[in-house]
Amino acid sequence: MSRFFSPRYAALAPYTPGEQPQDQQYVKLNTNESPFPPSPRALAAALERTRPLNLYSDPDCRELRERLAALCGVGAESVIVANGSDEVLDFAFRAFCDDARPALFPDVTYGFYPVFADVNGLPYREIPLRDDFTLDLDDYRGTPGTVFLANPNAPTGKALPRAEIGAFAAADPDRVVVVDEAYVDFGAESCVPLAARCDNLLVVQTFSKSRSMAGARLGFAVGSPALIADLNALRCSTNPYNVNSATLALGAATLEDPDYTRKNCEEIMRTRAYATEKLRALGFEVPESSANFVFARSPRIGGGELYEKLKARGVLVRHFTKARIADYNRITIGTREQMDILFAAITDILEETP
Ligand code: PMP
Repeated sequence: MSRFFSPRYAALAPYTPGEQPQDQQYVKLNTNESPFPPSPRALAAALERTRPLNLYSDPDCRELRERLAALCGVGAESVIVANGSDEVLDFAFRAFCDDARPALFPDVTYGFYPVFADVNGLPYREIPLRDDFTLDLDDYRGTPGTVFLANPNAPTGKALPRAEIGAFAAADPDRVVVVDEAYVDFGAESCVPLAARCDNLLVVQTFSKSRSMAGARLGFAVGSPALIADLNALRCSTNPYNVNSATLALGAATLEDPDYTRKNCEEIMRTRAYATEKLRALGFEVPESSANFVFARSPRIGGGELYEKLKARGVLVRHFTKARIADYNRITIGTREQMDILFAAITDILEETP
């Protein structure tokens, strides 16, 4: 830290992303990317349709917003597009939290939430998940604040039904509820259909996972025109050209190839069932997951040790040091071939573990 760095940030602990090795030497099951490339049809179309890069990108992201709005059954004024869903989440923390309305989220959830609060100088409170990692919305009732729910949750993979979230938001109309649906396309119920009639509900989604576009950085949110206008005020005060032209074109073209996305999601869900069964056969405890990853614990080896030994064998998974989940590893669902390499490595490691 330089002597010029504002003391405002002295205590800031930045988010640590999963490792992103810049070569291909690892089987990469650590950051919940899709193992499949973006839609080849969409890539070809995007190359032709990208606005010339000597010009700024469309600050209204109009074409993509209109397509997303049509898909979500809302007007374009109910949609904001951002540089990954991380950016829209950051705007939501800034827009809807303050001293009277701390951010409320589970103790075990997406690790960026406390960082968004801290970097923006906002208070937050972590509300413990139940012993089995389920989330009970009753634990939030009566506590003022803006609720951030990853649904499905990360890294547990557990999801709440839409009706439960809808009833919670409707019962407390003065509280904003942000539903982070980064993983919703892998088998959970989206709250998007509620966003049109529930003016305190903001639904955030991403193109990073089911649509294979993590590196293109594209996210969006759906909510009432008033909530979206608040987020837009922050977007336009930060970077009105927040999404680049190549990404806008690829995003729009990807929405024109929904079969490709659907087939990839189906394949990932099939491989998830296969992986769950295999890991259980290897003695792991693996809760049912509704996401493109599983969260697994072995009674025979600690999470940190397994992570290190897999890495030494060329397989990257994610390990979190937080005490409550330190025994676990979060394993992204890759291709079946990648998963078989993982199982062979785990079998090997367990064989040499006393
Ligand atoms: N929400 C959750 C729960 C996530 O796990 C992630 C991925 N790290 C994100 C949001 C952010 O995704 P992106 O910025 O790539 O859209």
